[in-house]
Amino acid sequence: MGLTHLSRVDEVIDGMHALAHNLWWTWNPAAQDLFFTLSERKWRASNHNAVAVMNAVSRQELRARLYEETFFEHVEDILAQFKDYLGKKDTWWNAQKSRRGDELISYFSAEFGLHECLPVYSGGLGVLAGDHTKSASDLGLPFVGVSLFYRHGYFQQTISPDGWQHENYPTLDPKELPIELVTGADGQPVIASIELGHVKVHFHAYRVNAGRATLYLLDTNRPENELHHREITARVYGGDSTTRIMQEIVLGIGGVRYLRALGLAPTVYHMNEGHSAFLTLELLRERLSAGADRAAAEAWVREHCVFTTHTPVPAGHDRFTPDLLEFMLDGCCNTANLTVRDVLPYGQENAANPADPFVMTVLALRMSRAANAVSELHGQVSREMWKHIYGLEKAGDVPIGHCTNGVHMLGWMAKRTREFWHKHLGEKWIYYLKNKAIWQQVEDPELFADEDLWALRYGLRRDLVEYVRRSTKGSYLRMGLDFSTVQDSMLSTDALTIGFARRFATYKRAPLIFRDFNRLAALLNSADRPVQLVFAGKAHPRDEEGKRYIQQIIAHTKNTALLGKVVFLENYDINVARHMISGVDVWLNTPRRPMEASGTSGMKILIHGGMNLSILDGWWVEGCDGGNGWAIGDDSSPADPEQQDEQDALSLYRVLEEQVIPEFYDRDEYGIPRQWIDRIRHSMVTLIPQFNTDRMVSEYVTRYYLAGK
Ligand SMILES: *Cc1c(COP(=O)(O)O)cnc(C)c1O
Repeated sequence: MGLTHLSRVDEVIDGMHALAHNLWWTWNPAAQDLFFTLSERKWRASNHNAVAVMNAVSRQELRARLYEETFFEHVEDILAQFKDYLGKKDTWWNAQKSRRGDELISYFSAEFGLHECLPVYSGGLGVLAGDHTKSASDLGLPFVGVSLFYRHGYFQQTISPDGWQHENYPTLDPKELPIELVTGADGQPVIASIELGHVKVHFHAYRVNAGRATLYLLDTNRPENELHHREITARVYGGDSTTRIMQEIVLGIGGVRYLRALGLAPTVYHMNEGHSAFLTLELLRERLSAGADRAAAEAWVREHCVFTTHTPVPAGHDRFTPDLLEFMLDGCCNTANLTVRDVLPYGQENAANPADPFVMTVLALRMSRAANAVSELHGQVSREMWKHIYGLEKAGDVPIGHCTNGVHMLGWMAKRTREFWHKHLGEKWIYYLKNKAIWQQVEDPELFADEDLWALRYGLRRDLVEYVRRSTKGSYLRMGLDFSTVQDSMLSTDALTIGFARRFATYKRAPLIFRDFNRLAALLNSADRPVQLVFAGKAHPRDEEGKRYIQQIIAHTKNTALLGKVVFLENYDINVARHMISGVDVWLNTPRRPMEASGTSGMKILIHGGMNLSILDGWWVEGCDGGNGWAIGDDSSPADPEQQDEQDALSLYRVLEEQVIPEFYDRDEYGIPRQWIDRIRHSMVTLIPQFNTDRMVSEYVTRYYLAGK
């Protein structure tokens, strides 16, 4: 190695630390491989955390490794790609004609699911926020996210021998995570404060770099705070409504104050769900303090705020009693010409009744320039649900639109899949994910042979089967099952593999496919056309019924009639999700229509050649064209839940028996299911360009962020 190389080793090591502290690596397989190579054991033990790996390898060792020239060049190459990405000027955002150049988009969300090693999310809402952030970075938006740093994160799930879910809360160590304490010029933490009642509560923040985007996670765990206030941000959605309102005050009001402490003045405040809606009150207070009258201040707030609602059931929206609200907000809201009593009507459905609860969604709707639901059907449901607060008779007149969710395809892509696309489409395709013409090429059999697609599917299914065999060992032993007797019969690489993974909220009806046990068992145990089921999911800690659903599924995994054909993976998180969505042939989704606002997990399978089998709810109403997957049931929503379950289960069995299974096993002389592969192609061409976050974020930009000025 030449002298110039030697002298640059320390610079490269600094570059590796910077790389580890930017989540860009979570959507770049070569960068992930680099950290994996440094310490395979630490990489696995830390849930794939680049910073933990870098902390575990000494500078001495890094130097020595980098003295090897090929490794040095490989690292330099990755760092150069990283630098290119950060410095890219010809971004989609920069090509927007209507931008002025001084925009800053802020995005507030109670959770962000960016990667499994940063467990500050509970489910779909957080994963959507994470994917939104990654696409905002890819498209080049000036973007800042705001959320909370949950020191104990969301719980980790284990299942006891009786099939019951248990929750463990790890303690996260910021120094071991891809986050950085925000400090000022003096090297001290930047601190802001809010008032809860009349007690001042201080908080600092951690910065998360996600490509070009930045995220601030606020944390009240400071020594000067009272003990119970240090715990406000301890857990994701932890505690009762008092903890909840305190978290939401920190997020909304504290979030705006923190941005101010950093000298940031966003031009758009996007509220991802109602949790952050108190931010509108802080903006209002700022305007009033600056001398604006109430009408002008309200107009300013509306002009700058955008709101996305996610919950199609009234009970799912945060509601606080006026007493609690008045007590908590009294310190934050009082200015010369605003009191907490003035604020109450902004969030009440019926302001004539002083006891009417304060609804965060109502506040957000009233204080936003634009509001949207997350799928077309959810738009209809939301307009119906909120028409009374606008005093409107016809739901069609309610000003709530929709912007259908998507997923960040690159972040969800298995390495094998990424290599597949790379080989067939070259290097540039990743910049054109929403370009229909790119995906159209999949229908060209010269470019994409049936054999190649089938080989990809087999490779991915094998990866999942191996993963399941590895990762269920511990849980089977804990559940009191003799693993040695099931290990080798645990799933088959040849069988039609159906996946179901999501939060075990009861409306998602995880046990629906078991409704007619014998009928299902016959399908799973078919000698020549076997089927297998892979489940995962967490129930909310206080959702007893959701936990009973898990218990039912666990009982089925232990049933000798189904052993090795129905499996449950513990601790559903982004990592478990990534394995499942890439490996399954069919992704099952059985929500009680119309309660799934969008759903996103079914979008993650598309790029891997998986196929959706879903109730016509959420995004699938728009996605399904009859040839790119299958619908369960029709577009009706029976009022009687029992009747709905029965009807949907019958439809599910019929579609499986008459369409899905026969098509998967209809092979030609080479063992290839030609019709199935045609369907994969059709699914890719019609769905990938639509249901990704590049399309979604660009829609937010043109329809909301840059509109109305
Ligand atoms: C994608 C994802 C979700 C959301 O899936 P839905 O289909 O919307 O229920 C929830 N949790 C994790 C870990 C995910 O990866």
